[in-house]
Amino acid sequence: MRIGQGYDAHRFEKGKALVLGGVGIPHDEGLQAHSDGDVLIHALCDALLGAAGLGDIGRHFPDSDQAYADIDSRILLRQVVERLHAAGWRISNADLTAVAQRPKLAPHIDNMRETLATDLRVDQQQVNIKATTTEGMGFTGRGEGIAAHAVVLLTERPVE
Ligand code: MG
Repeated sequence: MRIGQGYDAHRFEKGKALVLGGVGIPHDEGLQAHSDGDVLIHALCDALLGAAGLGDIGRHFPDSDQAYADIDSRILLRQVVERLHAAGWRISNADLTAVAQRPKLAPHIDNMRETLATDLRVDQQQVNIKATTTEGMGFTGRGEGIAAHAVVLLTERPVE
């Protein structure tokens, strides 16, 4: 078994669509990034790559590469899953936490879970997503952006 951890944070930006966990969320601002800014998927990718000893998302999909400008982060996640499978790993479970003062994420959690389980090619039971505020403290509390934490467990893929 191998464990991996990921963390990411992005600043809010007016006039951009908010996408979290692969799901569009109605809000008056989105997240600033080279990609679509899906901070939850970025933390998840880093946890997966970390567990597999494959570096991080920046190494696989550099900011400097125009191929990744405004890219749907689900495409990156699917590529990470393919690289993990190719390296002989399978995903046992993923546990994610989004940290945001606003908007309210609870109504979107089930949809995110279904979306991420599809991209991870696992059962929904293997993906858990939580959302919390920081009670007004820090950059997330002041509504400057959204942060995300991810932990995953990988197991060696049995030889078929
Ligand atoms: Mg990021």
